[in-house]
Amino acid sequence: MNRLTMEAIERLNSLLKAFDMQADTPLSNWVGGELVAGQGEAIELIDPVTGQALLSYRDAGSELVSQAVTAAARGQQQWMSLSASERGRRMTEAAWALRGYDETLAQLESVVAGKPIRDCRGEVVKVREMFEYYAGWCDKQHGEVIPVPTSHLNYVRHVPYGVVGQITPWNAPMFTCAWQVAPAIAAGNGVVLKPSEMTPFTSVVIAKLLESSGLPKGLINIVNGIGPTTGAALTGHRGISKLVFVGSPDSGRRIAQAGAERLVPSVLELGGKSANIVFADARLDDAVAGAQAAIFAAAGQSCVAGSRLLVQREVFDAVCTRLARAAAQITVGLPVEPSTQMGPVQNARQYRHVTSMIDDACRQGARVLCGGTRPAGLPEEAQGYFLAPTVLADVSDDMTIAQEEVFGPVVVVMPFDDEEQAVRLANATRFGLAGAVWTQDPARAHRMAGRLRAGTVWINSYKAINVMSPFGGFDDSGFGRSSGVEGLKEYTVAQSVWVETADAASVAMGYGNGVG
Ligand code: NAD
Repeated sequence: MNRLTMEAIERLNSLLKAFDMQADTPLSNWVGGELVAGQGEAIELIDPVTGQALLSYRDAGSELVSQAVTAAARGQQQWMSLSASERGRRMTEAAWALRGYDETLAQLESVVAGKPIRDCRGEVVKVREMFEYYAGWCDKQHGEVIPVPTSHLNYVRHVPYGVVGQITPWNAPMFTCAWQVAPAIAAGNGVVLKPSEMTPFTSVVIAKLLESSGLPKGLINIVNGIGPTTGAALTGHRGISKLVFVGSPDSGRRIAQAGAERLVPSVLELGGKSANIVFADARLDDAVAGAQAAIFAAAGQSCVAGSRLLVQREVFDAVCTRLARAAAQITVGLPVEPSTQMGPVQNARQYRHVTSMIDDACRQGARVLCGGTRPAGLPEEAQGYFLAPTVLADVSDDMTIAQEEVFGPVVVVMPFDDEEQAVRLANATRFGLAGAVWTQDPARAHRMAGRLRAGTVWINSYKAINVMSPFGGFDDSGFGRSSGVEGLKEYTVAQSVWVETADAASVAMGYGNGVG
């Protein structure tokens, strides 16, 4: 075990102890308002910086999942027995209570996920914002009155599903946890969430802190383990009434199928292959800075990463040169260092996927403009999953690297001649998550936005997101929406209530009562 691993273990153990999770073999689940150990096989947590084991914890297993669903059902009933304004007040207070833990949460996320500490410090603020925003919705979910043509008063209530099952990936664990838990509970549901087995702890801490600050015990339950065991137990559990999944299209299909078996609806937030389109009339300094942030932030491990840079031919060479120069200047380093802009790829499986995609692309004729190798200047012990920011040119539309998600710090740059070709290239993948257009022509900007098959479009910007604005994809990027009021609605069902207001009720056989 090398020096960096020993330091990471020490940091991790002291953070776990700070949250009463016990060191070495942590209590890795939050069920019914208690920290509990898993009951299944041991899972090793690997340090992305060194590739060495930090600790191991036990897979939750199906029995613990069942206990979590039961606890969530009880917690949900208790939650719904409070008035809507009381729920909002408690959620607001719980969100405020998170403030005292900003730094410890950020540190824990950074050491486990291998994310730069500066990114984690930013994300912890987003976590609070999500709870604060949805707290405000608790007492504002009005129903509607429908002007039916009979003597009935017909009103619609938006009622919670009951207990929802949520499954999240490893790239932004605490952000994704808050992103889905906040609207779910604001809508009145109980939650059982399974984070990625590679990033188990920050979701547990968030649930624990919220429930220690006034939310009912058991309202939010976190179970940690791998997909085929704990994940499958959750998606197949009879007590779950809705599934919300954030992850890859392949797993998303399996989750939606598991839901369909029981006729349980799902929301799928999946991958992307987003086109970042630069026209010759764009302000190139901004476009290049945007392209750099679009793909290299979070080492490209972002569902909305701008992994295809489409550049109008007149400025293609200039943009390639500038982007390669900017990419080479990114500080790749240890996540713990405040100056680090890009850390490692999170895990060995992902690293193999990213590097093999680069190798395949090069075999098919792609040209490396920068990166493609281990970055220089890292400590000798950092033998984990580091990859320099990589820019590839000479890529054709039919190559795998232009079609499939890399989910790593790799961008392909492709030329286009006119708007028609830009639209065709942008829409020529099976994904439809996000896209951006850089131009100084406002008419063109709006025209392009209307023609891109993408759930989010940025104009002269990239990666602007906010909990208030809806987010989600088309096609292999999934279905359903998160964030904003659309995200809230995913967690409720409309219930229609008919009240006879006439003196004497006239109930006919069939639909003859003017109802049909
Ligand atoms: P993944 O699909 O491998 O795993 C995601 C989660 O699903 C993990 O918790 C995993 O344990 C679980 N899982 C896997 N198989 C399962 C099964 N059969 N039953 C139940 N659970 C199962 O994805 P990943 O590698 O962790 O994350 C990367 C992917 O996530 C990328 O495709 C990325 O684009 C996507 N992502 C999408 C968004 C979005 O909002 N659209 C956000 C972040 C990440």
